[in-house]
Amino acid sequence: MTTAVCLECGRIKRGAWTSCPDCGFEPCGPDQLAQAVLVSDHFLGREVLEAMGERCRRGEPWQFPQGLLDVVRERIVATVPFDELGHPLAMDQPPAPTPSDDEA
Ligand SMILES: [Zn+2]
Repeated sequence: MTTAVCLECGRIKRGAWTSCPDCGFEPCGPDQLAQAVLVSDHFLGREVLEAMGERCRRGEPWQFPQGLLDVVRERIVATVPFDELGHPLAMDQPPAPTPSDDEA
């Protein structure tokens, strides 16, 4: 089970690409999907995710390492089918490049 942080409200939720039970935000399009993967336990430990969610709730902007974001986005574009709205057709099966805690 994937644990992830909502990009919109910072809530810890299940699934990187699922809609948020609190605010309803659902990542769509390669950029948001890549960001959603980066703030999931594919990349980060639960404690780090909770700390990031806390920062988000305080209104701090997300800061993603651009190089890593590009790698993940390209992987998603290459492997994930999208519907016409930019939602992934294979929910919650984000491609996981080699996990790295370096960016934590
Ligand atoms: Zn939310």
